[in-house]
Amino acid sequence: MTKRIFTAIFAVAISIFAACLVLIMGVLYNYFSVMYETEIQNEAQYISIAVQSAGEDYLNSLTPSTNRITWIDSDGTVLYDSRADLPSLENHADREEIKQALETGVGESSRYSDTLSEKYYYYALRLDDGTVLRVSNKQYSVISLIAVMAQPILLVAALALILSLILAARISKSITRPINNIDLEHPETADTYDELAPLLRKISFQNKQIQLQIEELSRKQQELATITENMSEGLLVVDERTDILFYNTSALKLLGTDKVDNNQSALTLNRSESFRKAIDKALNSQHNEQLMKLNHRLYQLIANPVHLENSVAGAVILILDITEKEERDKLRREFTANVSHELKTPLTSISGFAEIMKNGIVKEEDMQHFAGKIYDESQRLITLVGDIIKLSQLDENTIEMTKTPVDLYNVIDSVTQRLKHLADKQNISIEINAEHISVIGVEQILDEMIFNLCDNAIKYNKEGGKVFITLDEQNDGIHLSVRDTGIGIPFADRNRVFERFYRVDKSHSKEIGGTGLGLSIVKHGAAYHNAIVSLNSKINNGTEIIIIFNNVK
Ligand code: ADP
Repeated sequence: MTKRIFTAIFAVAISIFAACLVLIMGVLYNYFSVMYETEIQNEAQYISIAVQSAGEDYLNSLTPSTNRITWIDSDGTVLYDSRADLPSLENHADREEIKQALETGVGESSRYSDTLSEKYYYYALRLDDGTVLRVSNKQYSVISLIAVMAQPILLVAALALILSLILAARISKSITRPINNIDLEHPETADTYDELAPLLRKISFQNKQIQLQIEELSRKQQELATITENMSEGLLVVDERTDILFYNTSALKLLGTDKVDNNQSALTLNRSESFRKAIDKALNSQHNEQLMKLNHRLYQLIANPVHLENSVAGAVILILDITEKEERDKLRREFTANVSHELKTPLTSISGFAEIMKNGIVKEEDMQHFAGKIYDESQRLITLVGDIIKLSQLDENTIEMTKTPVDLYNVIDSVTQRLKHLADKQNISIEINAEHISVIGVEQILDEMIFNLCDNAIKYNKEGGKVFITLDEQNDGIHLSVRDTGIGIPFADRNRVFERFYRVDKSHSKEIGGTGLGLSIVKHGAAYHNAIVSLNSKINNGTEIIIIFNNVK
């Protein structure tokens, strides 16, 4: 803008200067011409008076002057000329000024030289004797005038040029300074030209609009960030060139990277076939789901295309860590297979015994024995099905029993009474060291847990062994311990005994009526009550299982 104003001012100044110059030259030219002609006319008057009285003698006595003086007879013959030799001069009768003078007494004319650079002015007066006296001289033409004045003109032009440059620069800067000084953040405070007031008001209004929109946008972005950052699922948005447009921290964590550069392709985050396939298919407008294994974990990729004006503008990829879910599914599948297997064994026995009885092969005296076998196997089935039901209830979290304060002493007391018969059979003594301590929980589940622990402590004990049940409150919670002096659990099996249907010695366990689900129920029951289970065991020495309840009372 400054440049344009500068150019405009400079152009105007130079144009005005040029116009003035032309005008002044015109006026000067006119002034000098008039003055010059008057001078010649006056001289012609003087000389004509002198010639009339003194004749040619006066002309001959004249000192050479700048003007040319010619005396011409009435027929046009040149009688005298101050510049040229008479014989060389032709008859002047046809000259304009001579003709006029002969006719009217006075004549004048101007003529240019052949080159046009010189102009001659002629003034003629008719004398009383009919002769004509003519005075003439070279007059400045416009070109010669300019040539004569070139030096001062150039000097003035140079000065005008410099002055115009300086003034134009200063003026243009002073015009633009208030505009440049406008604070566009706060245009309403600007002290500038009145003409700019509407524009500044508009800018101020738009500033406020932009501010509001930015606030709205950042609020939405904040909302989105809060949602996506709190997602455990990874979220990735890519454009049609697979460049990452958006990601959340979980996505980077799951893909095992810690930073993303600008315009980085998502394909550089993970080189696996399934990841590439998910993005490629989504960018080809196909919803698709892929499984991806990474660092011993299993991820599900859900990729969807993003459509914009009927074309795919990018893709959204959701990354879910399904390792645990997959493991649970696997366990469930195994559980189903195990359940079928476990149910099949007693059912096969029952069916076998019943078939023999049906065919009448069994002797009368063995009948009771076979019926007893069928009864035992049915009991085993009932216990198994009961355990499976309890476990799946705990597993699915479908139990809607309200938790109430449960006195664990009472539960221990009830359980030991029910198991007294079994303990007596093996000559096992049970020692209880407990106080009346309550926990918030479901009595039925707590009963089942303690029963299973005590049942195992008797079942896997030795003849004449001992079972110690202690209940006390310690710093980290309520400790319930069931310790026996039994066969113990090998170190390698300590974690596995809590798995469903896992038995250290399968045949022994089955023999004594174990389902392989007792400790699983203990583990799930403990989790249901936010309790921790720990196991200490020494082969041939005994086992201690401790449940620590920290949801005290
Ligand atoms: P089960 O119905 O077979 O007893 P559990 O889930 O209760 O099933 O126990 C799993 C396995 O852990 C048992 O088969 C047994 O081998 C072992 N076990 C459990 N409790 C004890 C214990 N107190 N002493 C020794 N082994 C035990």
